[in-house]
Amino acid sequence: MPIRRIHELGDPLLRKVSREVTHPAEAFTTLIDLRDTLHEFQRTHGFGRGIAAIQIGIPQRVIYIEIAGQSYEILNPVILSRSEEHFQMWDDCFSFPNLMVHLERSKSLHLRYQCPDASTSELVATDDFAELLQHEIDHLDGILAIDRALDPKHSLMTRTQYLRLKASELPKSI
Ligand SMILES: [Zn+2]
Repeated sequence: MPIRRIHELGDPLLRKVSREVTHPAEAFTTLIDLRDTLHEFQRTHGFGRGIAAIQIGIPQRVIYIEIAGQSYEILNPVILSRSEEHFQMWDDCFSFPNLMVHLERSKSLHLRYQCPDASTSELVATDDFAELLQHEIDHLDGILAIDRALDPKHSLMTRTQYLRLKASELPKSI
């Protein structure tokens, strides 16, 4: 079980731009480590749906996602288009699990990516899946959720405080 350490906010590695995977087979061990590390994080924190290779110290454009009972192994993702419609949400991240960030994401997107067997695939994602993909693809470019905070004074909150508030008490949409 190759569980890897998750690099945390402040680690300069998280700001690096990850490199393209040229031979999909080289991502094989990365994907196993991502899956095992995601499962360990879910077990210890009680949440978590996606992880990017850079978060376990591997600067490859590789993402592993589990959502709605399905897993996705995504190499070299490219967002072909995004909806003009956006929505606001409170986001979190394995690299700063105790911090919530109020930000805006596109409501849907069209993605092209490579699979570990070297085939190319496309998908259309909406809502939860779309925002998760945007979060993970940002990691590949060294962008963190905190960079997208809507308002520096009111868009950051500890997880404890977030859980203390009811939805109606959360800061209003901007
Ligand atoms: Zn993250």
